[in-house]
Amino acid sequence: MDSNLKRNIILEHYQNPHNRGLIEDDTYIKANMNNESCIDELNVMVKIEDDIVKDIKFDGEACALCISSASIMTDTLIGKKVDEVENILRNFLNMATEKEYDKEVLEEAIVYDEVSKTPNREKCVLLSWWAIEKILNELKAK
Ligand code: ZN
Repeated sequence: MDSNLKRNIILEHYQNPHNRGLIEDDTYIKANMNNESCIDELNVMVKIEDDIVKDIKFDGEACALCISSASIMTDTLIGKKVDEVENILRNFLNMATEKEYDKEVLEEAIVYDEVSKTPNREKCVLLSWWAIEKILNELKAK
């Protein structure tokens, strides 16, 4: 994917984020995430049922990269089984930290494959994905 196309996808998700806006529903698990190196504060809520991520919503004050990444994260993960989600998360985090990863599983999230070149923006891109990781870890601890 060329960098122009990547930029356009990121911009499009920033201007029209998918699944933005929280709802009142106790069946969702929530996480609040802060990125002190930027302005980013995100609230993420996830509904997991029958081992499937049925829905994800997010909201908050955040920069363009953070919002676009959260939007792409919801598109990528909604409808997936929990173990698939864990696999995608692992590969996304590996991509962002220059480790080996399987780009096939990342779908549109591959647009961030150069984020490791701008370490100061890494947290912006990772914040919403960390929220999902945190929620899944909390579920496992129960
Ligand atoms: Zn940011």
